[in-house]
Amino acid sequence: MLKFKHSFRNSCVSEGRLIGWWAKGGKLQSRLTRTRKMDDSVQPLFTFGVIADIQYADIEDGFNFKHTRKRYYRNSLKLLRRANEKWRKEAVQPSFILQLGDIIDGFNKKYDASEKALETVVNELDKGEIEVHHVWGNHEFYNFSRDDLMSSALNSKTTDGGMAEDVVPTRESTEESYTYHFSPAPHFRFVVLDAYDLSLIGRKEPSERYYQSLEIMQAHNNNDDLNHPPVPKGLEQRFVKFNGGFSQDQLDWLEGVLTLADEKLEKVVIVSHLPVHPNSTDPICLAWNYEKVLSMIRAHKSVVCFMAGHDHDGGYYRDASGVHYLTLEGVIETPPDSEAFGTVYVYEDRMALKGNGRVADRILMYP
Ligand SMILES: [Zn+2]
Repeated sequence: MLKFKHSFRNSCVSEGRLIGWWAKGGKLQSRLTRTRKMDDSVQPLFTFGVIADIQYADIEDGFNFKHTRKRYYRNSLKLLRRANEKWRKEAVQPSFILQLGDIIDGFNKKYDASEKALETVVNELDKGEIEVHHVWGNHEFYNFSRDDLMSSALNSKTTDGGMAEDVVPTRESTEESYTYHFSPAPHFRFVVLDAYDLSLIGRKEPSERYYQSLEIMQAHNNNDDLNHPPVPKGLEQRFVKFNGGFSQDQLDWLEGVLTLADEKLEKVVIVSHLPVHPNSTDPICLAWNYEKVLSMIRAHKSVVCFMAGHDHDGGYYRDASGVHYLTLEGVIETPPDSEAFGTVYVYEDRMALKGNGRVADRILMYP
C-alpha cells in the first residue's frame, strides 16, 4: 500500500500546475527569488537548517508506483550525514534543524525494522549536536502509533515557547494533537502543526477524530483503495488516505497563537508535513482542509512563511499578500550525487534560503 504514495502524478497535473503558476505570476516570482544575490556581508540574527522526507530504510533502491521517480532508501542516510556535516561547518551554527516529516520509510514496518531505522537516523542527527524540531508525516504513522510517537525521539515538543500561559486554552479533548510553538529569538516564532490530526492513519478506532476522518473520506472518495485519488486531476485528488487535515481544536489553538503573535509584532513561520497552498504543491499532496489554514494565515499579519514536505518534487509560491509557501524537495528521491537540504539565514527584513542540490536559493522578503 505504501508504494502508492505520490504515485498518481500525471502530465496533465504537472502541466496544469505550471500554467497556474504562470497565470498568477508565480513562475516570474520564482525566477526572481532564485536569481537574487545572497548578501553574505550582514550577520544574520540566527540561522536554521531544513530537510524533508528522508524516508530512510535499509533496503534496495526502488521506484514509485508509476516508475517515474527512483527512491534511494539507503542513500538517504548518506545525504542526511552530508547535510549534518555541512550544518556543523557553518560559520554561524544553526540554532536548530527543522525535520519536515517522513524521516523513515513505511517499508520498515514490513521488515519489522521501524525501531532500528529510527535509531539510525536519530543517531545520525544527534552527531550534529544541534536541536532538532520534528514534524510528523504519514510515514511516521505507517511505522508507529500516535502514543508511541509521543514517547519517542520524534517528539520535540519540549518547551512552551515562552507564551503558552497567554494562549487561549482550547476545548478539552481526549485526543491530543502534536502541536507546539517556540521562539528561537525575540520577535520570531515557529509553529509546528499536526497535519494527521484528522486522518485514517493518525487516528484509530474508536475515536471521535477517526470517525470524523472516515466521514470526510467517504464524502469524497469511493475507491476500494483509499490511497487511490477519487479523480485524476484537480484539488479533489487530495482526499486520499496518505493525507490528512487539522482538527477544529488545533485550528482554534493556532488562532490563539497567531493572535498573540500579531499583538507581539512577531514574525511567524508555520511548519507542517502537508502543504496548504495549491500553487506550492501537486494538489494530490494538499492537506484535506487546507483552505481553513490559508484563510487563517490571511487574517494574521504575523505569518511570513509556511514550510512543508510530502511532495518530493518540492514547490514554491508567494501569495498576493507576500506570504511564502515553500515545499521542500524530498531527500528520498534525490540521486546520490545530489543533495536536498537548506540553511535559512534570518534577518530583520528577510529570510535567505541557501539551498543545496535540488533545493534552490531563495530570498524570502517579509510581507
Ligand atoms: Zn509524506
